[in-house]
Amino acid sequence: MIGRIDHVGIAVRSIDEAKGIYEAMGLHVEAIEEVPYDGVRVALIPCGESRIELLEPMAEDSPVAKFLSKRGPGIHHICLRSDDLRADDARLREAGYQVIRPEPTRGADGCWVQFVHPKSAGGVLLELSEKDPEGGESG
Ligand code: ZN
Repeated sequence: MIGRIDHVGIAVRSIDEAKGIYEAMGLHVEAIEEVPYDGVRVALIPCGESRIELLEPMAEDSPVAKFLSKRGPGIHHICLRSDDLRADDARLREAGYQVIRPEPTRGADGCWVQFVHPKSAGGVLLELSEKDPEGGESG
């Protein structure tokens, strides 16, 4: 089942440059980690019950690098928290929605993630995320 909005993902060219506006508002980068599967560095900035996730490409051919060259910096995806990602993934597939990965993959902050294609979600890239109950390693 889907609960709250976990985070909003924002594509940036540089985490160091992009984080300034959030720090000026009194928010702080909690962690920066690399997600090799997606070719990105991720900065997590807690904001109440949600977070801002800054996404900086690590390689020119990564999806976020392509997004930046096509559209420039901006909102990349919205992430919804799931308490059972495999069940939500299966339900969406059954209902005919286009998910992007053959199965959930490892995202930032020890979570499992799946994405719903913008064509299936009103033009928005949706991420579904479940915190790994084992609290496993990220990356
Ligand atoms: Zn995300």
